[in-house]
Formats: sequence, structure tokens, C-alpha cells
Amino acid sequence: MNAKHTQQKQAAGTPTDRTNVTVIGLGAMGSALACALLDAGHPTTVWNRTPQKAKPLADRGALVAATPEEAVAAGELIVACVLDYDALRTVLAPAAEAGTLTGKTLVNLTSGSPEQAGEMAAWAGAHGAEYVDGGIMTTPPGVGSPEMMFLYSGSEAAFTAHRPLLSALGDPLYLGTEPGLASLYDAALLGLMWATFTGWLHGTALVGAEGTAATDFTSVALRWLRGAVSGFLTTYAPQVDAGRYPGDDATVDVQIAAIGHLIHAAAGRGIDNALPELLKSTMERASSAGHGNDSYASVIEVLRRT
Ligand code: NAP
Repeated sequence: MNAKHTQQKQAAGTPTDRTNVTVIGLGAMGSALACALLDAGHPTTVWNRTPQKAKPLADRGALVAATPEEAVAAGELIVACVLDYDALRTVLAPAAEAGTLTGKTLVNLTSGSPEQAGEMAAWAGAHGAEYVDGGIMTTPPGVGSPEMMFLYSGSEAAFTAHRPLLSALGDPLYLGTEPGLASLYDAALLGLMWATFTGWLHGTALVGAEGTAATDFTSVALRWLRGAVSGFLTTYAPQVDAGRYPGDDATVDVQIAAIGHLIHAAAGRGIDNALPELLKSTMERASSAGHGNDSYASVIEVLRRT
């Protein structure tokens, strides 16, 4: 192997799985991935466009490849995490053209669309590689924690074979053989996160206008989310699946009246109301479509139609 072999440090973990793994891309996330693999005791080769970023990993025992081709040749499993799919395709093209990808498994943790995942799976397959696409549901400090979800889709055989190694990164959740599923779930979960963030910040601004600290409000908000709101979701999910929305807890029309109070209170305190106005108009469209006496879950009928 041409990779520059640096001093191998004593690995903290002693995995029974000694698969040689390569990490391509050593930005904030790729470096965290490589660290977690090294911490778990996996023989790890790394490559990055800007070579200096490999230095801290070399100090922890990683092999540093001089080129992407060397990096691909060194690993049975290739974990990629660069800016986007175009960059990854460019980086891997010489190895693919030389046939070096043949027989390897490519686990692509770069963020992209479901369509890009499908194209990358076809591209990898055409070059003889098994393909697994992934979505990382944490930030770099969370990598390595069993609490954090890593979403995977694509080749089930490759995922199953490498599941023990992938567990070093976080809790692996396999979604199915369609390569785009991990990206689809990733997008859906980020949408949920941003809506939640913005609703929380709107509430924080509202109570903050009367002098409540964000930290004080947040402990109450978390109790609301964990207890009541998560229970509402659990109740509403089967209603969505069944396409029937009994309004026996709170109807859409009742919630339209309630959100009016939020908009009034926020307007009076100089708080931007774009989010609650959007929510109110969406509820009103559901009501106009005949769901006024149904549960909030019926709003999905309006979302699907648009
Ligand atoms: P980052 O710190 O900006 O790192 C970007 C990486 O991509 C670097 O290794 C960079 O190489 C490489 N790169 C960019 N353009 C390239 C090109 N044309 N050719 C070769 N390499 C190129 O970003 P990051 O936070 O690590 O994110 C990487 C991926 O993980 C993204 O798709 C991101 O959406 C995803 N992700 C990140 C997080 C997070 O919290 N950070 C969470 C989930 C998913 P250089 O070092 O040479 O610039």
C-alpha cells in the first residue's frame, strides 16, 4: 500500500470487525467520523483535498493516503463525506475509471437529494461497488454517540455486512433498498427540526417580551413537547394512515380560534407573526375543504393537495 503509514497509536476500542475503512473528506463532519472509527479501534485510512486537515487524524493513528485512488485502494469500506455529490463524483472518478472501486462498498454520508442518491447508486454500481446512502442526524460533537441516529438506505447486504462498523458512528437505522430513502427522511426530519426551532423561538420571543429568560421558558417548552405534543403525534399518525380524522380531542376550527390568541398576543408585543399567520391560513384552508370539525391531522389533506 502506498499510503503513508504514520505511528499507529493504541486504539481505545478492540472491535472484532477489523474491516479496513477509508474516510474521504475531512471537514468538520468527516473528521468526526474518522475520529469515531479510530476510537473504536478500526484500521482507518483518510484522504482530504486539503491535506493539512489529515494531521490530527494521523496523530491518532490514521493512515494518510496521498491521493483518492490510494485511499480507495486501502479500504474495503469507503465512507465519504464531502460538501456535495458533484464534489464526491469528481474525487472518486479516477479510482472508478481505474477499476479500484470494484468490489468495494461506498457509504456516502454527503448530504444531497433522493434523486442524487439514486444517480450515485447507479454510478457506483456501474463501477462494481455496493452502494449505501446515509443521512447523519447530528452535528460533529454527536458523532460516536449511540443516542444519535444515522439513516441508511441502499444495498441491504452491504449495510448488514458493515452494520457493526457503522455502529461506531451512531445508531444505524436502515430504511430500505431504495437509495434515496435516507435523503428523503433526512429532509423530512430537518423540516420538522426547523419548524420546531422557529416555533420555539417565536414562543421565546413572546414570553421574553414580558421578561422571561429563554432558559426558563425552554424547560416548560420541553415538558410540553415530550409529554403532550409527542402524544398528539402518536395519536394522529394512525389517523393519517387511515385517512380518517375524528375531531374528538380538538377540532381544526377550535385551533383556528386558539391561534388567533397567539397572533394577538405576539402582535401586541412587537413579535413577527409570519409563522403563526402561515399556520392559521393553512388551518383555514383545511376548514374550507370540509375539515373544520376534524382533528389537526386532517391538515395533511391540504398539504398533499398543494
Ligand atoms: P465542511 O467542514 O465544510 O467540509 C467540507 C468537506 O468537503 C471538506 O473535506 C472539503 O475539503 C470537501 N470538499 C468541498 N469541496 C470539495 C471539492 N470540490 N473536492 C473535494 N473535496 C471537497 O463541511 P461538513 O460540515 O464536514 O459537511 C460535509 C457534509 O456533511 C455535507 O454534505 C453536510 O451537509 C453533511 N452534514 C454535515 C453536518 C454538520 O453538522 N456539519 C450534519 C449532517 C450532515 P477541503 O477541506 O479541502 O475544503
